[in-house]
Amino acid sequence: MFEDSQNTGQAAFDNSDGLLSVPSEIPVADTDDLNTSIDPKAAADEAKPLALKWIDNAILVLNSCIRSLAPDAATNIQAKVGFPIVRRHFHTDTKANLRIIESNYQTMRRYLCNSVHIFRSVNDETASRDTLGYFQPGGPLVGGYVFTMRSISFTSHYPMLGPNCKASVIIHELAHYIDQRMGHAGGESGPAYDLSNFETAINNVHCYQNFAIHATPPFMDERYGMNRPNV
Ligand SMILES: [Zn+2]
Repeated sequence: MFEDSQNTGQAAFDNSDGLLSVPSEIPVADTDDLNTSIDPKAAADEAKPLALKWIDNAILVLNSCIRSLAPDAATNIQAKVGFPIVRRHFHTDTKANLRIIESNYQTMRRYLCNSVHIFRSVNDETASRDTLGYFQPGGPLVGGYVFTMRSISFTSHYPMLGPNCKASVIIHELAHYIDQRMGHAGGESGPAYDLSNFETAINNVHCYQNFAIHATPPFMDERYGMNRPNV
């Protein structure tokens, strides 16, 4: 959830295959927490189908809304359901803006399908260094982060998260990954979120996870993420 747009260039990743101080298949010796033996990237791979399902539903709903705005469009139930959900999270209903949102989800989907080259596990030392000390093994939960635009990093906290939270974190980090302007202004919920305009919402990573979940049957406004780490 920590993101940092600073780019340290190639050098920081030259040893990316050697980051783990112990091989990942050997449990960390100073703890008996079983989760520490689960590889974070493997856990993200397991959560990927749910994230993909949510993104696909977001794209489906957005395209239904876009099609319904054509001059001779027939009434379409998906758009009828979809418009209130788009307005709820992205505060817009114009064709041009819907296309921008749809295009962002398409970009996220492409990277998710190519995640074998983008997802990486980081050990605690690397996670702490990349997040300027924010990540601590026993500190606040930090499931993943985008440090440079080269990769999405998953920490030792990630495997402990619930299945919906895991998938939500993937969408959150993909949103950071596709555009350095993406941040947290507007938040995940509350008055700032509800009163956002389109310009704020389009650059708020939380809107992407929230909308994609809401656009998935049964169309509930469930806000999964680090505020509900166990779900
Ligand atoms: Zn974030």
